[in-house]
Amino acid sequence: MADIFSIDREYIAPTYARFPVALENGKGSIVFDVDGKEYIDMGSGIAVTSFGIADDEWVSAVSEQLSKLQHTSNLYYTSPCGKLAKLLCERTGMKKVFFSNSGAEANECAIKVARKYSAEKHGQDCYTIVTLQNSFHGRTLTTLSATGQDHYHELFKPLTPGFIHTPANDLESLEKLLDSVKVAGVMLECVQGEGGVLPLDKEFVVGVRKLTQDRDIPMIVDEVQTGNGRSGELYAYMNFGVMPDIVSTAKGLGGGLPIGATMLCEKMQSVLSAGDHGSTFGGNPVCCAGAVSIIERIDENLLSDVRKKSEYIFKTLENVKGVESVSGMGLMIGIKTEKSASDIVKKCMEKGVLCLTAKDKVRLLPALNIPFDLLEKAVSVLVEVIEE
Ligand SMILES: *Cc1c(COP(=O)(O)O)cnc(C)c1O
Repeated sequence: MADIFSIDREYIAPTYARFPVALENGKGSIVFDVDGKEYIDMGSGIAVTSFGIADDEWVSAVSEQLSKLQHTSNLYYTSPCGKLAKLLCERTGMKKVFFSNSGAEANECAIKVARKYSAEKHGQDCYTIVTLQNSFHGRTLTTLSATGQDHYHELFKPLTPGFIHTPANDLESLEKLLDSVKVAGVMLECVQGEGGVLPLDKEFVVGVRKLTQDRDIPMIVDEVQTGNGRSGELYAYMNFGVMPDIVSTAKGLGGGLPIGATMLCEKMQSVLSAGDHGSTFGGNPVCCAGAVSIIERIDENLLSDVRKKSEYIFKTLENVKGVESVSGMGLMIGIKTEKSASDIVKKCMEKGVLCLTAKDKVRLLPALNIPFDLLEKAVSVLVEVIEE
């Protein structure tokens, strides 16, 4: 392990505060480090490995495509990307999909669509995108600009102009803003993930939909982390009874391969035309084949299991001494503890459970199909560490 650490430290740009663990292989929700130590994975690579590590169906979907054709560019047709787009549209009611490679890129596309739509509809001076304070939308300069947390901005100014941040769950402030500034889009996460696993109030999300609909302003929902079954519905907005105009997603979509998707409703479907946007790797057939095997299996059975597991975690943790609050939705859970979250994560790791943090909380993002007995075991270790 020492060698892996030292080579990494010597040659990898020091942008990550890695945990002192080098992972080697795994199966489902079990992962092993290079010394053979076993862990229960409660992080899924930050909500990415939706069906766990080296999931059989996913591996065979990916390998089958990999041995046929790994890349074509977007100059040609391939079947997996159309198949995935059709599946996503059928499951959401959206009409068109643009594929990219990451969450930030999915959001970049969403912002471009909203800006083009609004410029054509409301004039060239209509370009401002409103996002929420404490949001997270990515690391590119434009999605950093969209991110409503100043500490991410400080070293990289000037950022892309035309972004305003408004407080979450405050419809009055948003309405005032929409009355005073020409707004080209409102973008939000239904559960602020990096911001501390905070679900928005239902009245707020419904209110945003009404305010934007009345003014013909595109509503963008960033489902990069909350999407693909994570919230207990296929997409988190489905828990709020709203239909957005644009939905971006990534993380769990590919089950472990990089893919981003921007879904467009009927009104947005023909905003972009040939040449307006593109991506060399976007819609890569191997990533799309993997994603098809994920989305096809996120059915009502699986979602109901996700909700049951969620309820179990909430119920078990809420009454533990040392737990101040439990927040989140589905298998996206934040736990505010009296002790520091990073100490708890460290102790859990020593005891063979991999957890994450979000701000000052312990964050759990297990695979959607984590077996109940492993979940119980992991939660009991977490409880033990919180209580000790
Ligand atoms: C992770 C995340 C992103 C950025 O995704 P990348 O794939 O890292 O570019 C954007 N929005 C939300 C809500 C996220 O959680």
